[in-house]
Amino acid sequence: MVNKDKIKEGVALLLDGIGEDLSREGLKDTPERIARMYEELFAGMNEDCKEHLSKTFHAEHDGIVLEKDIVFYSMCEHHLMPFYGKAHVAYIPNGKVVGLSKIARTVEVYARRLQIQERMGVEIADALIEELGAKGAMVMLEAEHMCMTMRGVKKPGSKTVTVVARGVFAEDEGLQNSFYRMI
Ligand code: ZN
Repeated sequence: MVNKDKIKEGVALLLDGIGEDLSREGLKDTPERIARMYEELFAGMNEDCKEHLSKTFHAEHDGIVLEKDIVFYSMCEHHLMPFYGKAHVAYIPNGKVVGLSKIARTVEVYARRLQIQERMGVEIADALIEELGAKGAMVMLEAEHMCMTMRGVKKPGSKTVTVVARGVFAEDEGLQNSFYRMI
């Protein structure tokens, strides 16, 4: 669980550090608000994808199962700024499938914590292999990073795209191409 008192102290220091007046009306409750908000934004830290991927159904389906356009919001661990976009998550079952909403829940578990996009994709793909025993998994994330678009080179709308392929997806280019066609 997040320590709200520490977050409040930290935010107050931050405001002070940028030269703000903590006592002005608009900022009075900001440390408290941010502490509450962080509890929600980082809720994934206290969750385990097992909660969502352990309830499986038997299915003979041995083709690609794809859940695409899953909207996610995460926080870049280098700048504490949001990055957000869409996840496309595919797996090839090995006799077991999960409810489709559980794939989106798994994305949430890994998005709601400090992240880098590259690791987030790997964690989702590995969860499908490890928890479902999937024959293969492939995850594409496309996201806009506020730390990129709001500062420095400032390229609003530019997206970072990452792809992870595991199991049969890693070995079979034909399967990868099917994935790309489906999204
Ligand atoms: Zn960043």
